[in-house]
Amino acid sequence: MIHYLDNSATTQPCDAAVRALSDALERWGNPSSVHHLGQTADALLKSCRSTVVKSITRLSRFQNPMDKLLFTSCGTESNNIAMLGCAASKKRTPNADGILGTVIISEGEHPSIDNPAKRLADQGYALVRVPTKGGVLDLGFLKTALENAKANAAPVIFAAFMLVNNETGAIYDVKAASSLVKRYFPDAVVHCDAVQGYMKLRFTPATLGADTLSVSAHKIHAPRGAAALYISGEVIKRKNIVPVMPGGGQEDGFRSGTENLLGIAAFAAAADYGYTNAETHRKTVADLRAYLNERLAELAESGVAQNKPEKQLDNIASIVIPGVRSETMLNHLSAREVYVSAGSACSAHSKKKSDALTAFGVEDDRIDSTIRVSLSYTNTKDDIDALIEGLRTGSADLQKK
Ligand code: PLP
Repeated sequence: MIHYLDNSATTQPCDAAVRALSDALERWGNPSSVHHLGQTADALLKSCRSTVVKSITRLSRFQNPMDKLLFTSCGTESNNIAMLGCAASKKRTPNADGILGTVIISEGEHPSIDNPAKRLADQGYALVRVPTKGGVLDLGFLKTALENAKANAAPVIFAAFMLVNNETGAIYDVKAASSLVKRYFPDAVVHCDAVQGYMKLRFTPATLGADTLSVSAHKIHAPRGAAALYISGEVIKRKNIVPVMPGGGQEDGFRSGTENLLGIAAFAAAADYGYTNAETHRKTVADLRAYLNERLAELAESGVAQNKPEKQLDNIASIVIPGVRSETMLNHLSAREVYVSAGSACSAHSKKKSDALTAFGVEDDRIDSTIRVSLSYTNTKDDIDALIEGLRTGSADLQKK
């Protein structure tokens, strides 16, 4: 029996998603075609869009008719469209030092935010990373950065704050950071990568103060290949975002390419299922997390401990097993069909030290010994028992004596 505890990497598609995907095979027409087949595909696409809109805004349609929800292929694409699309939207005049403007992100963001931000830095933008020590956004640092940007005539054009860190589970105060940015630069686009918080926390773009916001289907029990980007009507009105991939003009011109209707149908079904059962799912995960914490405490004698942010999502636990390299522990657990990860799935092969854990303040040798356990409502206490048993034997056998 497998014990899948890597739900922040990806999730098993739920029954509703699998059914919707299979049903959508009947509607194989191109949603842009004008004939009947195209129209039935387009009708499905429209209904999927309102389902996903509801899962994000809690309303069946946007209050501001100019608001948009684009379907994309993945969270990475949504993040790139928001950031690069914003940077390309205006001709920028350099300040006296040749700086085109300022981009702010938090330290330890997912590479799909950090890497496009580095690209903008190469193009002449000042890049500021707000510290997240202990899992808390440093708002004092942010305020000083905003004052400096003002004083240096390098206006903030884009700021990105993730809702939940994918490695530590830290929940950031996106609303407070957004309000601060807007106080100094009302026209800046504030983006939230909500990929890890979607369906796990109650939020809307408005409650987070986000102008743009990303979510991804495969983190909520749908298959990979679909995701969404919310863009506020204000951003559209101010022309603060332009398409980064010109083409046939699908998704209101912001994301050309024939829509992946199968993936989108599965995404909408998982979103509907997750939204309808959100409270029950949260309660299940909260109970599992309490049990995990309790059982982990039994291993305290072997030095097993958690990297505990001030505010943490119940779904993600960052666990240190001193003296055992995370990869070694991962293999030990994997042999027992207990699946976890060392840091995030996308950096697992890079051998690079985790930026998120470094930003959190974890010492280098402990970063090397940290594993991420990520829960879902599909898990049971048996999964946790299997993990604890694996950690117990692993720390006894593998810890450097
Ligand atoms: N943002 C966060 C916080 C993530 O954890 C991930 C994936 O792990 C992504 C973005 C990228 O999403 P996707 O895998 O859909 O590209």
